[in-house]
Amino acid sequence: MRFGVFSDIHANLVALEAVLQHMGPVDQFWCLGDVVGYGPSPNECVQTLLDLDHIIVMGNHDAAAVGALSPRDFNGEARRALEWTARTLDRESTAYLKSAPEQLTRNELLLVHGSPREPLWEYITTDEQAQENFAITENPYTFVGHTHVPLVFLLDREGNALSGTPRDGMLLRLAGERMLINPGSVGQPRDGDPRAAYAIVDDEQMQVEFHRVEYDIAKTQSDMRAVGASTWLIERIAYGR
Ligand code: ZN
Repeated sequence: MRFGVFSDIHANLVALEAVLQHMGPVDQFWCLGDVVGYGPSPNECVQTLLDLDHIIVMGNHDAAAVGALSPRDFNGEARRALEWTARTLDRESTAYLKSAPEQLTRNELLLVHGSPREPLWEYITTDEQAQENFAITENPYTFVGHTHVPLVFLLDREGNALSGTPRDGMLLRLAGERMLINPGSVGQPRDGDPRAAYAIVDDEQMQVEFHRVEYDIAKTQSDMRAVGASTWLIERIAYGR
């Protein structure tokens, strides 16, 4: 079966629609959290997910937008956007986001927004952090988001974690070594490439494909302007930072 894996939509409906169209038909979608926060279309993004056969874990922005975390734990720009999101989310979207679990296992795979040891908060950016998270789990493959940067960590036979950056179009073989796999962000990439990011997992071919998709950034920016988003947030999506 083929699974569409994505994370950190951040209420960017234009980017989400571009990803879904580029992906084409898959058997199920796996969403790694942060459906909302920063972007202009939180209810529309939730509604789009609800129309898909999908599973989802909770992100830190989702948790704060529905009152499960305090917006005070976020910096000024993120907090202001979360307060707007909390006011804007309708009852159905709020209930949906609240019901998402912090972790999910599917067959032998673990899905989590941040990391296995800190599902909502830890950004796995270093080999050391990856190694520590490998040590507390047994799943061969773990999918994470949260950093908004596509990245793969592999645990080699000596027990060391090694990392690599998957480029657009790259195929990663799932050939036995344990891995932590981050598909990047749909709605707010931060690796310097503003295109939306996602991955496809194929459990028959045992491989992951990484993709980047152009979307109408100017449309999302004008939607952000219309809801009073900050200039800094509006500008950063054009740079992918
Ligand atoms: Zn995020």
